[in-house]
Amino acid sequence: MKAKTLAVRAGQTRSHFQEHAEALYLTSSFVFESAAQAAARFAGDEEGFVYSRYANPTVAMFESRLAALEGGERCVATASGMAAILAVVMTFCQAGDRIVAGRGLFGATQQLFATILTRFGVTTEWVELSDSDAAATAIRRVRPRLVYCESPTNPLTELIDLALVAEVAHEVGALFVVDNCFCTPILQQPLAFGADLVVHSATKYLDGQGRVLGGAVVGAQVLVDEVVRFLRTAGPSLSPFNAWVLLKGLETLPLRMQAHCAHAQAVAEFLAGHPNVTRVYFPGLPSHPQHALAKRQQRGFGGIVAFEVAGERQAAWQVIDRVRLFSITANLGDAKSTITHPASTTHGRLAPEVRAAMGVREGLIRLSVGLEDPEDLIADLDQALTLR
Ligand SMILES: *Cc1c(COP(=O)(O)O)cnc(C)c1O
Repeated sequence: MKAKTLAVRAGQTRSHFQEHAEALYLTSSFVFESAAQAAARFAGDEEGFVYSRYANPTVAMFESRLAALEGGERCVATASGMAAILAVVMTFCQAGDRIVAGRGLFGATQQLFATILTRFGVTTEWVELSDSDAAATAIRRVRPRLVYCESPTNPLTELIDLALVAEVAHEVGALFVVDNCFCTPILQQPLAFGADLVVHSATKYLDGQGRVLGGAVVGAQVLVDEVVRFLRTAGPSLSPFNAWVLLKGLETLPLRMQAHCAHAQAVAEFLAGHPNVTRVYFPGLPSHPQHALAKRQQRGFGGIVAFEVAGERQAAWQVIDRVRLFSITANLGDAKSTITHPASTTHGRLAPEVRAAMGVREGLIRLSVGLEDPEDLIADLDQALTLR
């Protein structure tokens, strides 16, 4: 079935009450009929719930629905996006292994790879994966255990050719992991391009209303089963309440993504024509260097738009302080539009020269375009940009 149908219907199970909406099972554990049944459940000889750190009916419905949307065999939910990423690297990497990671990853992912994993003997090589030749050369040279990326990247919306990177990763026996947070399965299904695992921060578009934290890992049964074994012991499982909120979020995901894309396109086109804007980063603009790849790989260009104003940090801060409708917050993927200055927030801990090499300049502003009327968003940006 199609995404709009799966988003509403996939994965639902009903209790004997035959409730119409998905039920919320707020229970930490489940009761057994006998000592023998308890033993059988623990041994895995009998199907059924045991304890909510392992599995819970509400969480299971969310997992099935997201697996259906991503076109994956199995999904396991986690307490946050970072918990999903941690679970994947802890499951598949051991001391001595290497990771090839794309530049322009989410800040906490960079920190995890650069500071925490190194203490366990797992090292990361940062590669410009959006440059296909550089990606292939680096992967063949490093022969990593994992190749890890986000596409489009944050905040500069650079795309990675997923089919190409998947092919080279598999040639050297690496697993290819894609963080699909920006596109969601509605706009891009990395598994269809050969990725082995997809990770999600459900906190962003999947909830879409800024309420709960959550994460997920999706892929082939054999791989996700291994992640499940790690998670059951290690602990960062998704709360049933958050899963229930996220299930309702998924129902409207296809409609919301359509609106995010349309509104972002209108905002990007407005910014591209504004005299005080020196550059716009948005895959939906024909001027974007990877516009053709975006059309091939994605079913929409997403809701994230970045742009530069002339005149360094002070000018960018002035625009941010003058907007009234956009919230100044680092969150994204929300119904409410948000505005951020990456160089002093999400990328603030990086050395200035590292930041400059990444292209995150002082005049750069990132927008997550929400569900407000785009005319109001444009009017707000216009007054903020024109008063200078
Ligand atoms: C927010 C985010 C994460 C981390 O997710 P949390 O739910 O905050 O732990 C990972 N990747 C990307 C691209 C994100 O935007």
